[in-house]
Amino acid sequence: SLTAGIVGLPNVGKSTLFNAITKAGAEMANYPFATIDPNVGMVEVPDQRLARIDELIPAKKIIKTTFEFTDIAGLVQGASKGEGLGNKFLENIRQVDAIVHVVRAFDDDNITTVTGKVDPKDDIEVINLELSLADLDSVNKRYERVGKMAKTKDKDAMAEYAVLEKIKPVLEAGGAVRSIEFNEDEQKIAKGLFLLTSKPVIYVANIAEESMADPDSDPYFKIVADLAAAEGAEALGISAKTEEEIATLDDDEKAEFLEAEGVTESGLDRLIKASYHLLGLQTFFTAGGKETRAWTFKKGMKAPQVAGVIHSDFERGFIRAETVSFEDLDKYGSMQKVKEAGRLRLEGKEYVVQDGDIIEFRFNV
Ligand code: GDP
Repeated sequence: SLTAGIVGLPNVGKSTLFNAITKAGAEMANYPFATIDPNVGMVEVPDQRLARIDELIPAKKIIKTTFEFTDIAGLVQGASKGEGLGNKFLENIRQVDAIVHVVRAFDDDNITTVTGKVDPKDDIEVINLELSLADLDSVNKRYERVGKMAKTKDKDAMAEYAVLEKIKPVLEAGGAVRSIEFNEDEQKIAKGLFLLTSKPVIYVANIAEESMADPDSDPYFKIVADLAAAEGAEALGISAKTEEEIATLDDDEKAEFLEAEGVTESGLDRLIKASYHLLGLQTFFTAGGKETRAWTFKKGMKAPQVAGVIHSDFERGFIRAETVSFEDLDKYGSMQKVKEAGRLRLEGKEYVVQDGDIIEFRFNV
């Protein structure tokens, strides 16, 4: 499954945020086949539609879909040259599908920073430069090899060489591959290079608790938000320490706490949703059996593939997907009325599943 890796300089609040994630963690009994890795925190994706579906098609149990964060500690300046545990950490980043880049954005004289000051802009640049340098290293190695092959008029090599020539100057200037516009063929080649700076990113400013209700008014957050906006990325203002406290509360206590803080949603929930969207993930539902359940699929997947998310047998024996949109169920109020209104659709193999679809799969065993 897809995962977002938490990266950042030492002492910015990564472990605190990761602790919040594991404390808020999914009820593992609901996910018996989940693998447990200490560096992976599995959280449930909040979705208000589940409660409404369960109200209209009651079941014994509601099961949310999940999302995984991976803790990647120890990235320091010089990592691309092997400083600290440099190469190992860069390899760990290579394994993730998106990057959650945490920066310190609170004042506290008792907590030192590696640079001796609180400077989110500088912190972001330090990390991004390490990632660019690491990528430049990989690109340079391929550039020579592929260059030789391109001279022999090998078509694939020539195409890759052209992409490398586009990437190289951007990395040399400390930029990110994700900022480059590629056409579809180039995009495929670039993807195959597994570069760190081509991964989508969310910036998380670890702000003071006092700024939670209105991050935009926080000068540190503003710096991070402007930087993120300049590269078309999202920035979230989160108080990691407060999230760690919230994570241990039950639903009612949590709602009360958030209200007192003047916010409607926890920072962690916002981060989960933002990461989910960043990766192009969507949700479909199953209902009407023992449980009302949300499942994750990748935007653009067709019905048989989506059936395979539940079980490979569903994909192999796929016949059709009996589908109603969440909006229609919500509007008509029962499956009976949905059918009477002609809003239950029988979708076949070519149907591109939509976010919010409630599906019953028919399949041959
Ligand atoms: P990491 O090295 O990035 O994993 O940073 P840690 O999560 O270990 O945090 C470093 C220190 O900062 C710890 O002493 C935390 O308790 C503290 N810390 C983390 N988040 C916050 C915060 O939001 N506010 C304050 N005041 N301290 C924090």
